[in-house]
Amino acid sequence: MDQTALQVARAVEAGATTMKGIVDATGLSRLKVERALSTLEKQKLLIRDGQGFRPANRQAAPPLTRQCGSCNACCDILEVAAVDKPVNQLCRHWQTGTGCTIYDRRPQMCRSFVCAWLQGHLDDTWFPATSGIIVHFSQDAVNVTVDDGCPDRWREEPYFSKLVEWSLNGIRRIGNRGYATLVVSGDNRFLLLGRTIVPEPTLFGTAFLPLTADTFRFWRATSPEHLQRLHERIAEIERIRQEFGSCAIPENEDDDPQAPYRPALLRQSNHA
Ligand code: SF4
Ligand code: SF4
Repeated sequence: MDQTALQVARAVEAGATTMKGIVDATGLSRLKVERALSTLEKQKLLIRDGQGFRPANRQAAPPLTRQCGSCNACCDILEVAAVDKPVNQLCRHWQTGTGCTIYDRRPQMCRSFVCAWLQGHLDDTWFPATSGIIVHFSQDAVNVTVDDGCPDRWREEPYFSKLVEWSLNGIRRIGNRGYATLVVSGDNRFLLLGRTIVPEPTLFGTAFLPLTADTFRFWRATSPEHLQRLHERIAEIERIRQEFGSCAIPENEDDDPQAPYRPALLRQSNHA
């Protein structure tokens, strides 16, 4: 994909749904955007319908029938770098009674942001103003940001079960555009693997193996090579399981296995 098409694809992914929105987000000319959109449509990476543009792998959002109403959670909880707004701090452009005081020139992120509740994907227990939880979907993640006034709300029901369900769906679709379920609560970040909570996942990825239908053993990688070794060991565990019917699963979530993996695994499994 060329650079222009990539820029346009990213803008659509970030939520720009109109020609103007994409031009604003990318700084490209309308002509270049139109060409890139045609290319992306031909490659079936993008869909143009009555609701504007959207990535081909994203379901059309149901028409918006909800209103933000009394909610201003995204102007409070989310980070908006374009106006120097940190996470969990009410935007300096927000004024009670007026709302956004720079509405006509608010940043693209504010223009295009629509949370999952507003899109109609969640029932009213998830209304951000009362739940303290904002959910939004991106191409490869369900992003959950939690108000620092209730940092553990996401662990409570009915929220946690829904997050577990999303996480398992995302894991099962790996290889077929899977997605991660990420929670940001105050300074803490978590990756959900079903009911298993991975604290502070690294940028390099998390290797994991199912223990039960909805729990996992995980190992956090500290480099691409480390992730590769972890995946190689998982492949060896699966081979041993096929051969012997079982294999011990190493417990240390921060270990760094070195090849050859088989002898140590066979020893731990008492198959040696
Ligand atoms: S968090 Fe959702 S409902 Fe609340 S103001 Fe933002 S978009 Fe609207
Ligand atoms: S610029 Fe306006 S819309 Fe954006 S976060 Fe601030 S108050 Fe909200």
